[in-house]
Amino acid sequence: NEATERQEATDATVCPLCAVGCHLAPADEDDAMRGRARGVAGPANPNGRLCAKGINAFESVGDEDRLTEPLVREDGELVPTDWASALDRAAAGLRDTADAHGPDSLAFLGAPHCSNEENYLLQKLARTMGSNTVDNRARLCHDNAAAALAERFGYPASTLGVDELAESDLVLVVGANPAVQQPVAFNAFVRGGDADVVHVDPRANETTRAADVHLAPRPGTDALFFHAVAAELLDAGSHDESFVAERTTGFEAYRESLADVDAVQAAAATDVPVDDVRDLAERIAAADGVAIIAGTGVEADDGATARALCDLLCLTGSVGRRGAGFALFRGLNNEQGATDVGCRPDELPGHADLDDPAARARIADVWDVEVSEEPGLNEKEALAAFGESIRGALVVGENPAISKRDADWTAERLDALDSLVVLDVYETETTAHADVVLPAAVGVEKSGTVTNLDRRVQALTAVADPPGDARPDFETLCDLGTRLVGDGFDYDDPREVFDELRAVSPVHADVTVGERWGDDYRDRFATPDGRAAFEPAETDAEVDDEGLALVVGSRAGGFGAADTTADDLLHLNPADADALGLVESDAVVVRGDGDSIETSLTVEDGVREGVAYLHADVADPLVRAGTASVEVEKRT
Ligand code: SF4
Repeated sequence: NEATERQEATDATVCPLCAVGCHLAPADEDDAMRGRARGVAGPANPNGRLCAKGINAFESVGDEDRLTEPLVREDGELVPTDWASALDRAAAGLRDTADAHGPDSLAFLGAPHCSNEENYLLQKLARTMGSNTVDNRARLCHDNAAAALAERFGYPASTLGVDELAESDLVLVVGANPAVQQPVAFNAFVRGGDADVVHVDPRANETTRAADVHLAPRPGTDALFFHAVAAELLDAGSHDESFVAERTTGFEAYRESLADVDAVQAAAATDVPVDDVRDLAERIAAADGVAIIAGTGVEADDGATARALCDLLCLTGSVGRRGAGFALFRGLNNEQGATDVGCRPDELPGHADLDDPAARARIADVWDVEVSEEPGLNEKEALAAFGESIRGALVVGENPAISKRDADWTAERLDALDSLVVLDVYETETTAHADVVLPAAVGVEKSGTVTNLDRRVQALTAVADPPGDARPDFETLCDLGTRLVGDGFDYDDPREVFDELRAVSPVHADVTVGERWGDDYRDRFATPDGRAAFEPAETDAEVDDEGLALVVGSRAGGFGAADTTADDLLHLNPADADALGLVESDAVVVRGDGDSIETSLTVEDGVREGVAYLHADVADPLVRAGTASVEVEKRT
C-alpha cells in the first residue's frame, strides 16, 4: 500500500539532533569525513547542507559507552543476561505489579527522540494494560504555546513550514535561539531569504547578531508588549480587514479589550522604548505577512504571550499563506510526533480527548480495547507518586532522575518502585535504579518515522547497526507487549504500526510520509467552526519583583537520555552579579519554588538585568517545580 511504498529504503535518514528534520546519510567510506554525516537534500534542507551538530550525527554510533547487552538486577547488582531472560523478567515485574496494585499503578514514560511508532506502541501498551499514565517530556517545553495554537487554529503544532521560511518577509523570533538550536532553519531565512528579522528575547544571543532589531521586554511583560504592538496596528488601521472578517470570530471584543492599551504606558511597563514599540508595528504593517518563530521563552506566562502572538497573526492575516504563520521551534527531533501519537496522559492518538466517542470507537475497533476515560498522571506527577500510587514503571529513552538538586529524593522515589524497566542507549541516573535495563538503538540505527517541528512526517532509515545486542525500541516494545497483553503487538515492521496509527488517528489518516499531517489552513482552520477565535486580550502584566526572573533556553539535542546536556551555567547580567557579590565562575545555588540546582556562574552583558538564564536541561528541576523567579547565592 501507499504507506508502505513511500517508506522504501534509501541510504538517507533524518538527523536525530533537532526538530528541523534535515536529511543526512553516512559519509562515504573513503571520504575524509568518514564516520560523520553528509547532508542529503530534503524538505528542511533543500540545499543538502547540515549544521555542525548534524555533521556529527553519528557520534553515538560505536561509542564505547553504549549499552550493548540486557542487564537484570541480581543481589543488588545489574548483571548481563540474554534478551529472552531479560524480557521475561521485565514483563513479570510489570505484570506482578499490575496484579497486586491495579493497572493504573503502572507509569509509562516515552521520549521525544524515539520514533512515532515506538511512542505509539508505548501508549498502546499502557492503555491496553489499563493505565493512562503515559507521558513524554516534550510537554515541559512547549505545552502552553501548543495549547494556544490548538485553541486558535485547531492543532497543537506549527502552522508554518520550515521550507517556507526562505520566502518570509518579516520573521519575529520570540524566546528562541535558532542560530544555535535549529541552525539550518535559521539559515533558511537569514541567508536563504530576504527577511526583516526581529529578535525578542531577554538575552542577546547568537540569533541577535543576525537580527535587524533586538528587543528585550521586562520578563513577564511580553504579552503586554505584543498587545501594545497590536493596538498600534489597529490605531493605524493596518490590520487585514478581510481576513479578520472572513476567517476569525470575536474581533470586536478583542478590539475593545485593547482600547486602554497605550503605547507609552506599555513602554513603561515593558521597559521597551515607545519608539521601538511603534517601529515594530510599522515593520509589521509594511510586511507581506508575519512569520513567528517561538521557542521555550514564550512558555513562562501560561500561554499569554503565545496567545498574543496568535492575535498578531490573525490581525495581519498571516496564517494559511506561504512564508507566514507560527512555527513552534521545538528542540528534540520527535517532540511533535511523541505527543501526536498519544504519548500523553490525557489524549488518544491524533490529539483526541480520552472521552471522545469517535476516537474511542476507532480504538475499540482496531485494538479491541476499551480505554479508561480517566486521565493518568503526567511525568512530573508520576515521579512524585513513585512508591505510592505508582508502583511500577516502563521508561523508554527518558531520564526522570535528571534532577540535579535532590538526587537522594529522586533515588528514593525510583527505589520505592516494585518494578522499574528502562530502555536506553546509555547508563543513566535512572538505569542505576532499574530492575531490568534493555539496550536500545539510536535514531540513525532505526527505521520508522519521526515528525519534525512543522508536522512533517519523515521516514527513518537504519543506516548504522546498533552495538552488540542493542536493538531498536520498536522490537523490544513488540516483545514486551506480546508478553504482557498477548495479541496486538506482533508487528514485523514499523510500517505496520504506522498504518495502524493512520487507522486510529484522523490527522494521520491521509498523511503521506514526507509530507505534513493535517490541513494547511489555506481555506479554513481545523476548529469546530473553521475560524480562528480572537479572545479579549489579557493586558495585566504580572511582574515579579522578587528575585530574578527565570528564563529558560531550549533543550539541547541528543541521542540518549544521558546525552542531552548543554552549557550548564547560570547566565547573569554584570549588574545583577555585582549586586549579589558574585564573579565569573563562582559556584552558585539557584533556588526556585520548592527546588534548586547547583551550578557555576557566567557573567554576560547580553542578559537583561533581572534575568537568570539557564538551559532547559539544567533548569529541568526548577521548570518541573513551576518556578517563575529564583534566588541566587554563592555556594560555600
Ligand atoms: Fe540536524 Fe537540526 Fe542541524 Fe538540521 S539543523 S542538521 S536537523 S541539528
